[in-house]
Amino acid sequence: MALHVRGVVLPDDEVRDLWLVGDRVTFTPVPGAVTVADRGFVLPGLVDAHCHPGIAPGSVPITSLDQARELARIDRDAGVLAIRDAGSPFAYPELEDEPDLPRLARAGRHVAPPRRYLRGIAVEVEPAEVPAAVTEQARAGNGWVKLVGDWIDREVGDLAPSWDAETVAAAVAAAHAAGARAAVHTFSEVGVELMVRAGVDSVEHGTGLSPDLVDEMARRGTALVPTMINIATFGDIAERAAAKFPGYAKHMLALRDNFPAVVGAAYEAGVPIYVGTDAGGGIDHGLAAEEMLLLHERAGMSPVDVLAAASWRARDWLGFPGLVEGGLADLVVYPTDPRTDLRVVRAPERIVLRGRLLR
Ligand SMILES: [Zn+2]
Repeated sequence: MALHVRGVVLPDDEVRDLWLVGDRVTFTPVPGAVTVADRGFVLPGLVDAHCHPGIAPGSVPITSLDQARELARIDRDAGVLAIRDAGSPFAYPELEDEPDLPRLARAGRHVAPPRRYLRGIAVEVEPAEVPAAVTEQARAGNGWVKLVGDWIDREVGDLAPSWDAETVAAAVAAAHAAGARAAVHTFSEVGVELMVRAGVDSVEHGTGLSPDLVDEMARRGTALVPTMINIATFGDIAERAAAKFPGYAKHMLALRDNFPAVVGAAYEAGVPIYVGTDAGGGIDHGLAAEEMLLLHERAGMSPVDVLAAASWRARDWLGFPGLVEGGLADLVVYPTDPRTDLRVVRAPERIVLRGRLLR
């Protein structure tokens, strides 16, 4: 059944009538369509650009499709209608076309050095095997691969890069040759520098970014997905590690404290920033609105830029067309203008996914 939606459509900021026929949007009236909203502010469905439906709470790999469904539905019910899966230990290509699940841009498994990431999550390989592992994970995903760029090195007692520059360059080249973009987990100053200069497509977290490197990212068009909601938990990580690794604990706290300024500097420099929560990576699902509010309140992004980072700009980046003629019939409706008071994103009044009214 065709649906009809009328409201102020963002980003154009015009009152429009949209008709949703099957999975698509049209501006041509459809007789008999059912009106599901006749006022309010209409946005292309939100995107969580860093999410892990394949990792259950406690950083435990899922073991069934139903678990991934359940986790993705929590995000969906918060208005997230597209997810970039930033690494999953469990492949679920079957869920890409499921009518009641968010659209999925997927990496395969994380690629990391041996014993240098959360247990049981990554494919752990020696440097020489990295390009082949990346190629394989590019095939397992649908457009992305996920590299672990740095992690605690227990011998050093601090964060250290996963690989040397040559290995990183080979990893990025393998991803691109396989038609995938490379996203990289990085916390440290040294790690992020190696990764950006090697030409990765998106920096995940990026707590170690310097002003110079932020300029380099802007020049290259490298994306940043800050996951501020995750970085705020560094205090817990530091506390657990402090007795054994005091240097690491101190480093993590310094990175946490400086992070709002880092994201603010990236924003000022024109780095493309997207909303990602790291749900599954120690963070609950369904918190995209909270990440949006942090980007505004702590990093100084304007409400409209936060909305772009969570909606139309993120959809463009991932290849999910928005509310244009022939675009995808995914939208959220808010009762008041989110540009005036962003807090309304916590409670979408209507959610339409793939042309079906969910709320
Ligand atoms: Zn993650």
